[in-house]
Amino acid sequence: MEKVQLTIGEVAALAQDSLERHGCDNDNAAAVANVIARAERDGCHSHGLMRLPGYVAALDSGKVNGKARPEVEALAPALLRVQGDGGFAPLALQIGRDHLIEVTQKTGIAAMSLVNIHHFAALWGEIEPIAEAGLCAMACVSYKPAVIPAGGSKALYGTNPMAFGWPRKNAPPVVFDQASAVMARGEVMLAAREGKSLPDGVGVDAKGAATNDPDEVLKGALLAFGGYKGSSIAMMVELLAGALIGESLSVEAAVRDNNDGGPPRGGEFMLAMDPNLFGDADGWAERGEKLFGEILAQDGVRLPGDKRYLNRQESEKNGINITRENYDKILAL
Ligand code: NDP
Repeated sequence: MEKVQLTIGEVAALAQDSLERHGCDNDNAAAVANVIARAERDGCHSHGLMRLPGYVAALDSGKVNGKARPEVEALAPALLRVQGDGGFAPLALQIGRDHLIEVTQKTGIAAMSLVNIHHFAALWGEIEPIAEAGLCAMACVSYKPAVIPAGGSKALYGTNPMAFGWPRKNAPPVVFDQASAVMARGEVMLAAREGKSLPDGVGVDAKGAATNDPDEVLKGALLAFGGYKGSSIAMMVELLAGALIGESLSVEAAVRDNNDGGPPRGGEFMLAMDPNLFGDADGWAERGEKLFGEILAQDGVRLPGDKRYLNRQESEKNGINITRENYDKILAL
């Protein structure tokens, strides 16, 4: 497959230009372009340039406000809400982040909800900067129904990812970010695009029969990871990123959505904690390192996020390779 090599800056510029041509103002386009470029940089191709046509479709259909002006409000001393103004999530996250960090450093623990946003990205991107500021952080977001509740037959939950970050003093934070489906839908789309078959147990076709064909799973539904356990996590995400914060559940998001291929309106829930204020300011970092040391002492084990960090080093040195087909699609936008 022919590849085109781009720098991270070139990926961001391509994305920004496309978004501005379809109605985003500079701030909104730059925030989304940054998220796309960082995804490509870290080898997270399912949430990089592949998503640009969806972002553009959502602008073209008028579903998303490309000139959104997100606003942060304090609901309680340790509770913030970002009103997303119907825009894509990245600008709302960017505007809310410093407020969340500042409040958490005073209160020890703080939550931030984001409402009236359209989220189409990987969650590590919003967790990592908060962990880099020295805080533990968690985030979760729902989408449209794609995952069957354990024992059921019909998609009800979104792929509902949840991410967690732990700060380290002399190393990049440890961040895991995982869908509550066995595999994120973006990964299934990528497999379909690349003509690959899926491992067993990822999903079912429209009739509910197990299949390894990604196209059939996209017409059918995904299964939750770990059976009923992942199913409960998906349920928790619906409650936190929907019911708790006054935003839509995945089923409600689907009813409202115009199916233009872009992200539906929804919400996001974030939690941050300052480990220096939990009573062991001198010990937490060392104890965390002890755990990581014990984990890595076992052969064949790595920390979550390490693959992304390796990909990042590689892209920063040698640029990013994207397929000619993907590149031509983006130029056409
Ligand atoms: P993966 O299953 O690929 O990875 C999940 C996590 O596990 C990552 O943090 C990964 O780290 C880690 N990991 C993988 N293999 C190992 C290993 N052998 N040892 C230790 N850790 C490991 O991700 P998913 O398919 O579940 O999700 C992909 C992305 O899709 C996520 O970023 C998620 O946020 C996004 N998503 C977004 C949605 C949205 O609506 N916005 C919906 C659903 C998903 P590493 O990166 O280092 O491999």
